[in-house]
Amino acid sequence: MKKFALMLLLMLLFVVVLPGHGQAAAGQNKILLDGQELTAGQGVPVENVNNSIMVPLRMIAENLGYKVDWNQTSKTVTIEQQGKTMQLIVNQTAASVDGKTVILNTAPLLRNNTTLVPIRFIGEQFGLTVKWDNTKKIVELITPQVPDPNIDTGEGNGGGGGVVVPPGEPASNLSMINGISFNENRLSIALEGNVQPSVSKMSGPDRIVIDLPNATFSDVFGSGQALDPNLNGKLEITDYPDVSGIRYSLYSTDPYTVRFVIDLNTAKNYSVDISGDSSKLIVVDLNAQSTVDTSTQPGNSGRKLVVLDAGHGAKDSGAVGVTGKYEKNFNLAVILKAAELLKQENKIDVVLTRSDDTFLELKDRAAMANNLKADLFISVHANSSGSSAASGTETYYQREASKALANVMHKYLVEATGLSNRGVRYGNFHVIRETKMPAVLLEVGYLSNRKDEALLFTEALQNSVAASMVSGIKEYLGIQ
Ligand SMILES: [Zn+2]
Repeated sequence: MKKFALMLLLMLLFVVVLPGHGQAAAGQNKILLDGQELTAGQGVPVENVNNSIMVPLRMIAENLGYKVDWNQTSKTVTIEQQGKTMQLIVNQTAASVDGKTVILNTAPLLRNNTTLVPIRFIGEQFGLTVKWDNTKKIVELITPQVPDPNIDTGEGNGGGGGVVVPPGEPASNLSMINGISFNENRLSIALEGNVQPSVSKMSGPDRIVIDLPNATFSDVFGSGQALDPNLNGKLEITDYPDVSGIRYSLYSTDPYTVRFVIDLNTAKNYSVDISGDSSKLIVVDLNAQSTVDTSTQPGNSGRKLVVLDAGHGAKDSGAVGVTGKYEKNFNLAVILKAAELLKQENKIDVVLTRSDDTFLELKDRAAMANNLKADLFISVHANSSGSSAASGTETYYQREASKALANVMHKYLVEATGLSNRGVRYGNFHVIRETKMPAVLLEVGYLSNRKDEALLFTEALQNSVAASMVSGIKEYLGIQ
């Protein structure tokens, strides 16, 4: 208690003693700490993004007195306070608190080289009460009267802006499950890491249980599939008579285990196939000869599987814009937004080749789509040219079979960017050449052009490009 009071006093002194930062935030939003207005710093206003109040990182450091560290290369924010460590990464909803994975409602973002972070989530993690008055646009931070030593986990389901995964071993070295799909009586699980699944058949009711040790769901799994705050979800299966549904959950955190259950209408045999190196695909195939029901029905009239590919990643930044922005970040932002929209489509499954700033070989991207027997493959990029005047939107195909998809996607994409229409073009790109399904590569705009670059890094443009991709995919697949 004494220690807490001292800390609180130091925090308040810190606020009072820094008159140089006394101006109000540039925006209309205000932040009060125990009734006292805080400064946003650097003239970057507080923003309301999807109902998450985002504040400049510097404000946290200067006004709340938390220890804040920023890693420019990995775009990672580390915040330490009261022995607790939190890590957030720009454009990623997966964060960690003391090594445990946490899913944020809104990812940290960059504005004019200032990192904005969700204040509610951070405040609540460190024991502050956070209130938002939407009429007056005021965020109120209230320090607790009596510190609660257990103010740690377990309150994630409140309005905390995030979900705290129950405690267990640290989330390092865990395999990350990126997505699943069910096609032709096969459950495919895409993941990164080394996993030996344990698969067993159970009866009463009939089901197949797949346990993946040392695994958890990546942030992108929740973008592609239903996943509730307690990390449970369900894939509705309607087109396969043998299967009534597929359930999944983070079954245990000690040790970390993800469990998939294929609920069966009739007892089935199965075979398991594992392929890939660091990006793995586990396929549980129900087409194996059944001891009970000898008729196999690999119906393929069901859900469609779309693989979305964010170009480049990690050490490969892709094109670098006139003001130094990286193509890889643009590509990923658009792909995550498109995946979020596609999740709402009940006839489409989506799997992403990458869900964060990781590096993936081109052949692994194509192999992932081929192994999954995806119906469509769409890669998002931004272009660059020696001429700073070059501007506009292009869509590329490599194989004849992809041309119709390219035409449909381009129609919506051009409308979404509002940039000049540079047409549907042939391009000998690896990922659209080596994939076996209709595949296109979108060059949304030119990062070498000042106007295009600025536009491409706006939330509005990224949202409309994502929406245009969904429109194109649905029209091409004939889904209403
Ligand atoms: Zn590119």
